[in-house]
Amino acid sequence: MTAPIARAAIYHFRHTLATPITTVMGPMTHRPALLLRLEDAEGAHGWGEIWCNFPPDGDLHRARLAARILPVALAGMTADTAAPFDEMLRRLHRLIIQAGEPGPVAQIASGADIALHDLRSRRAGQPLCAILGGTARAVPAYASGISPGKAEDQIARMRAMGYRRFKQRVGFGPDDGLPEAERSVASLDRGETMMLDANQAWDLATAQRQLDRLAPLGLIWMEEPLPADAPVADWLTLAKGAAMPLAGGENLTGAALDAAIAEGALHFVQPDICKWGGLSRTRRVARAALAAGRTYCPHFLGGGVGLVASAHLLAAVGGDGLLEVDSSENPLLSVFSGRGLALENGAFPLGDAPGLGYDPDVAGMADLLVSREEVTI
Ligand SMILES: [Mg+2]
Repeated sequence: MTAPIARAAIYHFRHTLATPITTVMGPMTHRPALLLRLEDAEGAHGWGEIWCNFPPDGDLHRARLAARILPVALAGMTADTAAPFDEMLRRLHRLIIQAGEPGPVAQIASGADIALHDLRSRRAGQPLCAILGGTARAVPAYASGISPGKAEDQIARMRAMGYRRFKQRVGFGPDDGLPEAERSVASLDRGETMMLDANQAWDLATAQRQLDRLAPLGLIWMEEPLPADAPVADWLTLAKGAAMPLAGGENLTGAALDAAIAEGALHFVQPDICKWGGLSRTRRVARAALAAGRTYCPHFLGGGVGLVASAHLLAAVGGDGLLEVDSSENPLLSVFSGRGLALENGAFPLGDAPGLGYDPDVAGMADLLVSREEVTI
């Protein structure tokens, strides 16, 4: 019998940006990261990460909320508890309804689910991908978060680190940023390709018009051209007429995510382990996506712990999916990945060391630490 979880420490970091990042949701003025360290009664530990990018200052709320709800969510649990994300949501079900906050609670449960898996794999002396059913391998990756106005510099910097696939933001600014995207594609070297992300900016008619314009660019995919909760019929209409595959999933949960896979609107399925589902639910979703002939591509935007955990899941699940590596300014991503963001032979490597393979250097980022709260479970 594995020892129960005894303590949780919530580390809240923030990196303030000199120049805000423009997004469809508004300006991003800082990069937050919320890391979770769980320790069991025998001193074994594991790390997880809680999604907290939006709304502005939503990271403050989640840091406080995590300290309040984790003692209930994790009481009596061990690293061997089956389907921990589902169990935590079951325990917090009434609170979620009463508070009207399914998102933040699910994001905290997701981080705890990841930390439990890391703890279990460290105890077993195996890499995280092994207890998820796979073997350590390097996973192909792409550089995301390319912004209009910064694209040339971002692409050059990521290219120097081995990246050959780049994803640019569109859906805002003059002409929805499409002329910028077209210039980026025209600037690519031989063997390089792009995908675009509209972050839910368009309605069906606009999306159809924009995708017609973009068809000659040879994109790998078009991501979230419609709101994630647009009628399935709209997604299917768009997918049928589009000259490129559609991608999405970071804003879908539960039955909506299952339906998106089953209906076939999305070719690239992009759940986020830190936002909904942790590793236990997302592994099921990813396997269902592969079984339905889709491609699992982890969505990720945060600090390095979630990135490396996403890489382990991708390695374990298999398929032709690509790891999303954000190229916007964020030392919390590169430092907490344990190895920086550079690719080796075109892929993001994973070693055989237990768990994630390292401990995030939280002491080294003390100047960006907003708070560290420890609670007894
Ligand atoms: Mg996206």
